[in-house]
This record gives sequence, C-alpha cells and structure tokens, in this order.
Amino acid sequence: MAPDQHKAPFRGLPSVDRVLHESAAAAALDRHGRPATVAAIRDCLSEARDALRSGAALPEPDEIAEAAAARLAEQARPHVRPVFNLTGTVLHTNLGRALLAEAAIKAATAAMRSAIALEYDLAGGKRGERDSLVRGLLRELTGAEDATVVNNNAGAVLITLATLAGGRGAIISRGELIEIGGAFRMPDIMARAGARIHEVGTTNRTHFRDYAGAMDDDTGVLLKVHTSNYRIEGFTAEVPAAELAGLARDRGVPLVNDLGSGTLVDLTRYGLTHEPTVAEAVAEGADIVTFSGDKLLGGPQAGFIVGRADLIARINRNPMKRALRIDKIRLAAIEATLRLYRDPDRLADRLPTLRHLARPKAEIAALAERLRPAVADAVGPGFTVSVADCASQIGSGALPQEAVQSAGLAIRHPAGQALAALAAALRALPVPVIGRVAEGAVILDLRCLDDAAGFLRNLAALDGVRR
Ligand SMILES: *Cc1c(COP(=O)(O)O)cnc(C)c1O
Repeated sequence: MAPDQHKAPFRGLPSVDRVLHESAAAAALDRHGRPATVAAIRDCLSEARDALRSGAALPEPDEIAEAAAARLAEQARPHVRPVFNLTGTVLHTNLGRALLAEAAIKAATAAMRSAIALEYDLAGGKRGERDSLVRGLLRELTGAEDATVVNNNAGAVLITLATLAGGRGAIISRGELIEIGGAFRMPDIMARAGARIHEVGTTNRTHFRDYAGAMDDDTGVLLKVHTSNYRIEGFTAEVPAAELAGLARDRGVPLVNDLGSGTLVDLTRYGLTHEPTVAEAVAEGADIVTFSGDKLLGGPQAGFIVGRADLIARINRNPMKRALRIDKIRLAAIEATLRLYRDPDRLADRLPTLRHLARPKAEIAALAERLRPAVADAVGPGFTVSVADCASQIGSGALPQEAVQSAGLAIRHPAGQALAALAAALRALPVPVIGRVAEGAVILDLRCLDDAAGFLRNLAALDGVRR
C-alpha cells in the first residue's frame, strides 16, 4: 500500500485552524486561552484519527470543537472542590476533617488578602513572634502556662519528643503504642524523634510500679497517649495521668500527654460522652499536652503544644519548629476559632463541627422525610428510597465507640451492581455526594447536610452523569 493511500482517510480531517473558527472553539479560546485550546483540539483530532482507523465516521469541525471544549471544561474543574459528606462521619480525615466557622473563614480570607502583623510587635514597632497571636487565648482556654502551635498534632508530638527525649528514653505503656491511621504510628514517631522507646507494662494492663521501676537517669519523658481510635475492654488497668504526674514530678522528668483530638469544652454539654478536655489534662499535672486543631476543636489543621513555659521555650528553640511552623492563613483561622470558645453558650451555633455533632436525631429524620420524595424521583425507577436510622461517628479517633444516633436515606435496588453504579454516579455529580454502601443499600446519613436545596439541585444532574 502506498503511503498516500494509507493516509487517505485522514485527509478529510479538519486542520486545527479550521476548528478554531468554530463558535465553540471561540468560546473556549476566550475562557481557557490559546495554548490550552490548541492542545485540546490537537488531542481531539488525534483521537478522531484513531477512531477513523477503526472505522468511525469522519467528524465535522464543529464536533471536534465541541469535544475540545468539553475536554477543556473537564480540565478546568478544580481538583480541590466541595463534596457532600453524607458518610455519617463528622470529622472524616479523608474528606478534610473539620469545617471552619464563618468567623474563621473571614479571618483567614482577610489574612490572605492583606499584609498582617504576623511576627511584628505593633506596640513596639519591632520584630515579634507569631505564636504571640494565639498564646493568650490558648493559655486562657487550657489553663496552661504557655503554648505554641505547629503544623499538626503529629508534628507537635514529634518536636516535643525530639526536644525533651531526643537521645534519651521515653517511657510509654505497651497499651498506648498505637497507630492512629494516616501513617501516624507512635513507635515510628518516637523513633524519628530520636527517643529510645522504653515500653512498660502489657497490652491490657500497665501499673504504677511498671512506670516507677522503669525510670532511670536516661529517662527523658514519661509519655501518656490517648488511645484515640480503639479501646481495650475487660481485664485492663492503666495509670491515671494525675498519678503519673506525681511520679514525673518526684523524679524531675516531664510528663507529656498526647490527647489527640483534645477538646476545649465539656462535650456532655452537647449531649455527647465526656472526652478529656485539654484543661483537665493540664490540671492533672501534665507538663506538656499536645492536641489537634482540626479534630473536635473544629479549626484548621494544626498541632497545639501547651504546658510549662520552660519546656515550651526549649521546644521553640528546636530548629524543627521552623520546619513545622504554620502560615498566616491558618493562624488567622485558629485565632478566630479559639475566640469562639470564650462564649461556650453560643459555640454549638457557630462551630460547624459541634453543630453537626449536637444536631438532634429528630431534626435529621425530619430532613430525611422531607427530601425522600425528591431523592426517589432523582434516582429513578427500580430504586426504593426510605428513611433509615443511622449511627453517625465523630471520626478522627474521637470517642470511637460513641455512635451518635442519626437518620438518613437508604436507597435499595434488587440488583447489587445497580447500587455500586448509583454510588459511583453520586460521586460523579458536579458536587460529589459521598455516602456509604452497607447492608445492601446506599446510605446517605444527613447529619452533616446543611444545604438541602443545593443538594437537590445537584441531584438533578444525576441523569447526565449516568449516561
Ligand atoms: C490524631 C492523633 C494524632 C495526630 O494528629 P494530627 O493532627 O492528625 O497530626 C496524634 N496522636 C493522637 C492520640 C491522635 O488521636
């Protein structure tokens, strides 16, 4: 076959220039710019060439332009975009944990737009310290002598151990050598901090005498870790932090308590089970307490270190602090979030995490009842949609056994594949809807659904994404 003959079918394909004259291409040029539009047209022409080889019809220039415009629109869709978290897990690590309060969003936005006195002492007109922006609030809310902030709680634990126990022993109960998920494993963090792990006790029972017998000249810290996402039940024993604090004080070794989620308020106020507060951990005598910003606290990702001023000063002198420091945007959001805690009576209205956790089941069930017909309509025939009891989770290792009674929609179908396909179609919506497939149903727990109208508008696109 002569080369010309081989090429013949492609001859009819329009040139890039020809396609650029189509109205869809003009709109794409306007929206996406020339290089991206030309590249998309080239890609579509190349695909059309492949299709011709397998016997497809010759496309018209306007079809190529439309295909290129669709490709560009897809490419322009941000990777970081909102989803509906209907998993029932309020603090879902894979969905970005806490939603920020409006006050925090405003503060962060203002900080993004403007220069701020981040490390600048406005009164003295000289260099200041970024921690000083939130130190006062943290001291007030926790009762600690001093405080500092780093990138996340993993960073807080790392720098604390590296500073206080680097090259020395860190005593920890065998029952507290935990893995939190997301690759946070206590033994690994301790090793990376340069601490020698000195395990005491057993998986289920650790006694005061185990700690006391393990203390020696090499001991850098006594470490207590909140076993956030699991519980050992039955024949168990652990030493209360207050008793460990006494031992630590007697031997002149700091007690570090990693609370993990760590809340600043008593959750029983909002109908939830008690989770140790940071103020309690400080009052029990821990020399350092570490906790997260984006778990129960309901702020941006951050790691807080509060406690004795001399130890915080040592931590701040560690060069790691520079590597773990947080930026002005999050610092602004943290300050605004912490301020909300000064008015606990209105906290549940203002802090989305707490609002979602405290939302009564009856209210969620009423919402489910209201949305049911429209959702049944949107998913189409063959599916049955019913209001169902759900058990929400707090998530992120807080109160792991606490199932919060909730409600939602259970969508069922006689064919198993239809459910998987529906779950996939829900994830492909303009605002992806993330539910759970369990017990032969797609379950949408409505605890975290704020924008019901937006949710229904979004569902209207379901037909489109299924085609
Ligand atoms: C979640 C958790 C961490 C890690 O905190 P991040 O803020 O996710 O880095 C550390 N320790 C405990 C006990 C935790 O629960």
